[in-house]
Amino acid sequence: MPSRNILVINCGSSSIKFALVNEEQPDFILSGLAERLASPEAVLHWQHNGEKDSLLLQGGDHRTALQHLLPLVQNATGGQLHGIGHRVVHGGEHFTAACRIDTVSLLAIRATSPLAPLHNPANLQGIEAALKLFPELPQVAVFDTAFHQSLPEHAYRYAVPEQLYREHGVRRYGFHGTSHRYVSQRAAEMAGVPYAASSWLSAHLGNGCSTCAIVDGQSRDTSMGLTPLEGLVMGTRSGDVDPNLHGHLARTLGWSLEQIDAMLNKDSGLLGLSGLSNDMRSLEQAREQGHAGATLAIEVFCYRLAKSLAAMSCALPQLDGLIFTGGIGENSPLIRSKTVEHLKLFNLTLDAQANARCIRGVAGAIGAEGHPRVLVVPTNEERQIALDTLALLTA
Ligand code: ADP
Repeated sequence: MPSRNILVINCGSSSIKFALVNEEQPDFILSGLAERLASPEAVLHWQHNGEKDSLLLQGGDHRTALQHLLPLVQNATGGQLHGIGHRVVHGGEHFTAACRIDTVSLLAIRATSPLAPLHNPANLQGIEAALKLFPELPQVAVFDTAFHQSLPEHAYRYAVPEQLYREHGVRRYGFHGTSHRYVSQRAAEMAGVPYAASSWLSAHLGNGCSTCAIVDGQSRDTSMGLTPLEGLVMGTRSGDVDPNLHGHLARTLGWSLEQIDAMLNKDSGLLGLSGLSNDMRSLEQAREQGHAGATLAIEVFCYRLAKSLAAMSCALPQLDGLIFTGGIGENSPLIRSKTVEHLKLFNLTLDAQANARCIRGVAGAIGAEGHPRVLVVPTNEERQIALDTLALLTA
């Protein structure tokens, strides 16, 4: 049987990220981004065989972008496309794994939209456009939350009145599940331990950041909650704050809920602390030049990350390793070493040379000899979505 190709689609409100994954090739055959959709500046960028190209879509929407993608996919696969995998942010309590898209699952995805009002409707827009353009192809939804549905109740419940959980779904869901699952599987392969009998702490550090405790291939706790705002300091998100902050700002400054939401989601995190940037690379450069805000932002980021990892350890029977992934986790020796410095009680220490070597896609062990395992594992959510899609094609 020839190897199969899966198109992976990640739809935002005004963008589509895509990757064409072949089950036997490590690199994407075709990948790219359509952005500023439904605006006069709408544009499609793609990369194929090392060549980059782009096309103005002039007001084109999600459907237009996919229409233009179609011939590129046909050209890149010789007409051999076997399925489409869609990233869907929220699967609520309904989805504990990926699922084939049909009328029943579409209804269930729509029903979870109140839990992710910014993301799920955008994901659905992409699914609906793809169903119209590729009606004959099997399509699969892969949820950011599904991996965390194995959290025990004591980890996913908030200490608020039960009715809010039972009637309104107020609980911790967690996100980045596809990434935590992918990197923990890879970590087990790299360490030569069976995934089904292993325990990991994982730190996904991109623009959004979260930690996860993975035991025997299952998520047992994670730092994000009802929404992706909970937990770590992120690019522009605050992470944990005193839950009374909303009331305090409303009372003392007269701020509306919308203002407080926007401040916590868009103006906080690394950006808010540094007063400079949400981008870790820029902050590291500024720190080297003595910028006080950038220095503080990095200190708070690493301390809070270490604190979260220590908290996650409550879910582990033993530690097979700590995993760093995401743009920051994969590329920043500084953040990795500063974080590990706060975890002395775990006997964690890095090998400075190995730590410096693991950047720009290089995976490897960075823990010092005789100390617990620390791994840098580049994430690949698109490949994981393609693998989940393939698994459901043959199921
Ligand atoms: P997203 O969550 O949008 O997928 P990424 O996983 O690409 O984001 O991570 C983006 C973050 O990774 C940014 O803060 C960026 O500055 C950081 N990053 C990328 N390369 C480096 C680097 N060499 N050193 C430090 N941080 C880096």
